[in-house]
Amino acid sequence: MRAPPANGVRRRRLPARLALCLLSLLAFAAPSASAGQPARRYAQAAPAPKPAVPVAFESDTKSFPGGGAEIAISISRPVQASVFALERPDRIIVDLPEVNFQLGEEAGRKAEGPIRSFRYGLFSAGKSRIVIDLAQPALAEVEVEPEGEAGRSRLRIKLSRVDRAAFSRAAREPQRVASVAPPAAAPADDQRPLVVIDPGHGGVDPGARAVNGQFEKDIVFSIAQALRDRLIETGRYRVAMTREEDVFISLSERVKFARQARADLMISLHADALVSHDGVRGASIYTGSDRASDAYAARLAESENNSDSSAGADSGGEVIDEVNDILSDLTRRETRTFSHRFARALVGGLGSALPMHKTPLKSAGFRVLMAPDVPSVLVELGYLTNTRDIALLTSADGRAKAGAAILSAIDAYFASRGRP
Ligand code: ZN
Repeated sequence: MRAPPANGVRRRRLPARLALCLLSLLAFAAPSASAGQPARRYAQAAPAPKPAVPVAFESDTKSFPGGGAEIAISISRPVQASVFALERPDRIIVDLPEVNFQLGEEAGRKAEGPIRSFRYGLFSAGKSRIVIDLAQPALAEVEVEPEGEAGRSRLRIKLSRVDRAAFSRAAREPQRVASVAPPAAAPADDQRPLVVIDPGHGGVDPGARAVNGQFEKDIVFSIAQALRDRLIETGRYRVAMTREEDVFISLSERVKFARQARADLMISLHADALVSHDGVRGASIYTGSDRASDAYAARLAESENNSDSSAGADSGGEVIDEVNDILSDLTRRETRTFSHRFARALVGGLGSALPMHKTPLKSAGFRVLMAPDVPSVLVELGYLTNTRDIALLTSADGRAKAGAAILSAIDAYFASRGRP
């Protein structure tokens, strides 16, 4: 038996067996009870207590007529999940932040529809994984819904059978498609407006490519983080982001996120690129509309709307259509009025900090702006085909300026609505 190598220092001074013995004693002794050098060393090496991880406490597997199946797992709070397929053997992988699985012995053993069984556990530091072994080829979607009053959530993994060719295609280009976990509901006495920041693109969908090689998804994500920090600092707003990492999220999921969270405002952040770049630069603000304000806006909306299908996740706008039937025209008109009001505030706010496009206010049929009850605006922060815009948007100074400018527009907008 040998002392662990990490204990090398001590091994040089003490016989190995004694060192090991001391170490195991110290592991259980209170620091004050074990005087001397080794105790302090050990105390320093001890890991800091981890923040509480969400607990998965119940699971249920069931199949549906037609060959589909679903695994539903209750978790103590909302988590973001992403899913992809692997072949040989056929598996569906669901990635999660670290989760403490307390699902009981039988969980995962039940075969249902295309599911042979599933396993779960810690995958790497801070990440957990569910591996679903398939009896038949199937593809999956993940959804995270609020469950009950205690801030719990329910992770649903929905599997639908596909043929071998479709499964192989999906597995050849593994695409992580994420759910968006709804933010925890605010306490009843917290009346602060909720601002949803939506960094465009992510994961397999990189967005536009800047002339310096950087991707739109990364540039807008950094700016989104800067804006989030700025908003939180003020203490005047609650803030949620549609994505917290580099992961693909469909446009309808983003809309659904803002609606489920009952957001007061949604800001989508993008940066455009031109085919021919003749020195065009500056930021533009877009609102949603059925008719585009000009041909350029129409083309831009078409290209932004394309990000779902280019990532293989074109699930259509069914979520939005469903809702449109229920909500009154009045609500939709009011939402549009507020979106315009915020867009005008943004032109003023951003214009004081960043160069603006010569016609900075436009509208078109952006799918991400289609929430009928959440005022939403899409900001194209600049052109990734313009080296001066890139330098500005990728500098800490530029990010800070953009964040402060958008904040001043948010302040102006809510002040005009009599809040906060
Ligand atoms: Zn974009």
